[in-house]
Amino acid sequence: MTGSYARFTSVIKGNAYGHGIAAFLPLAEQCGVRSFAVFSADEALQAIRARTENSHVIIMGAIDNDQIGWAIENDVSFYVFEPDRLRAAVQAAKGIRRPARIHLEVETGLNRTGFDNTELQDAVALIRDHQPYVVVEGVCTHLAGAESIGNYLRIIQQLQAFQAHRATLAEQGLSTGLAHAACSAAIFAYPSSILDMVRVGIAHYGFWPSLETRMHYLLQHVRDPHARVTDPLRRVMEWKSRVMSVKPVKPGEFVGYGTSYLTSRPQRIATVPVGYFHGFARNLSNLGHVLLHGRRANVVGAVNMNMMMIDVSDFPLAKKGDEVVIIGRQKRAHISVASFSDMTRFLNYEVLVRLPSEIPRVVVA
Ligand SMILES: *Cc1c(COP(=O)(O)O)cnc(C)c1O
Repeated sequence: MTGSYARFTSVIKGNAYGHGIAAFLPLAEQCGVRSFAVFSADEALQAIRARTENSHVIIMGAIDNDQIGWAIENDVSFYVFEPDRLRAAVQAAKGIRRPARIHLEVETGLNRTGFDNTELQDAVALIRDHQPYVVVEGVCTHLAGAESIGNYLRIIQQLQAFQAHRATLAEQGLSTGLAHAACSAAIFAYPSSILDMVRVGIAHYGFWPSLETRMHYLLQHVRDPHARVTDPLRRVMEWKSRVMSVKPVKPGEFVGYGTSYLTSRPQRIATVPVGYFHGFARNLSNLGHVLLHGRRANVVGAVNMNMMMIDVSDFPLAKKGDEVVIIGRQKRAHISVASFSDMTRFLNYEVLVRLPSEIPRVVVA
């Protein structure tokens, strides 16, 4: 069945795209999600510790051979894309007398991980020979940049190659469970890639994979040019801090390290305890902004390791303790991760995952 019955798998690698696995996973469970995909075995452990339901965890990337036994015992499935891991899985499963739940990743053109044709034949034979010990829960591939139209032909070819692999596996009578290929961008731009399961990351945190994907969606869904265009995605996360101190600075003074910012009048400078250690890029020095009292305040001088300075000369009531929004909404004003990405040339993805796990995540909903 294509489309309407696809299983939703929440991708929570990269510390749930910076949101924090422990904070995010139970929220997703409250929305009914029961399937989560991580990159590595250590993330799978975090997911298991965070879950409050009988949710299933899939490792899409790194798991050492000696961690496979742990995965099997905990019902964690994992991708298999090369022969050595498959052999290790068979061996571990036999030892424990419990089947390994695997997702066979096939090569379709990304050329990162995935069995090519020949390897796949050997894999099928090995799986057959050890039947009760290997359960193929899924067959999958990953697309090489579905968020950019420049990759259109390559993506289409990948989807065709994936179907060819599936047909071959079906001919051989191997039961391959759920077919899955789509990430966030693919769901919007290549609906035919929505097979039995989708792996959604960035979009379910409320961010577009790219401006192109957003345009694609809006052009398709907003037919009436006079309609009010609303973005269907809702951001899950906000990033807030507080003013740490406020002080007056005389005209003609440099602010902070070096000489990049010179006051031009009597000014008031506030410090905010957020710096590049916290993922606020240093190249936002003299360029970034934050929200204070529902308005934009400019970052002045260099962003330091643990703090930044903002100009609050035009915020007469600014005082220690006032809320500062770095990403999110304050009254009518709004700063998106995307605006950040434009200024730092980081992707949305990068800005999010750079938020260090040490910053406390507070669930407010
Ligand atoms: C990260 C990842 C996804 C999710 O990608 P988004 O663009 O964030 O939706 C899906 N599949 C694999 C294999 C991934 O590594």
